[in-house]
Amino acid sequence: MDYNKIAIENLRNSPQPPAGKIRLSGPCEHDNIVNGDGLRAVVWTQGCPNHCPGCQNPETWDFDAGVLVDIDDVCKKLATFPGQAGLTFCGGEPMVQPKACKQIADFVRKELGWNVWSFSGFTYEQIEAAGGDAWEFLKSLDALIDGPFIRSQLDFGLKYRGSRNQRLLHLEYGTGKILSVE
Ligand code: SF4
Repeated sequence: MDYNKIAIENLRNSPQPPAGKIRLSGPCEHDNIVNGDGLRAVVWTQGCPNHCPGCQNPETWDFDAGVLVDIDDVCKKLATFPGQAGLTFCGGEPMVQPKACKQIADFVRKELGWNVWSFSGFTYEQIEAAGGDAWEFLKSLDALIDGPFIRSQLDFGLKYRGSRNQRLLHLEYGTGKILSVE
């Protein structure tokens, strides 16, 4: 089985929310300190095709579950959170709702002055190979924590991530270039 090919297909062809909407698995959070540097807001997306064995959030896999909400309402909610350094997208899989996530990422960067991070079960290289909207979303990030959770590589000592294959990639906003790897 060609896992890279499947991943790229999933990045390009997963079900999309209607225009102006995003599918979320739960309410937006604030003051989170475990999903990136500083105090952070978190947007929890719904829908993940990766199905990593040992995933802590399997209830976020279903593309028809969760709630469909207006992107404008998400932005308005985020704007009420004071003192946040940035926003992190968690899942579910943010990279399969790339247009919706990018719209929110652009809003918090431009209107709130926040930096933007995202988790993804896909690798940087798979997202680059898929191109299109997923790559455009990646280019709007400051950091990506990439790769699937692999239970045999579990390590409780890692910053913000669960398994040793996952990387914390600091990115150049606007180009997606990798600046450094943790
Ligand atoms: S990518 Fe994340 S949400 Fe999806 S199955 Fe893997 S660990 Fe779970």
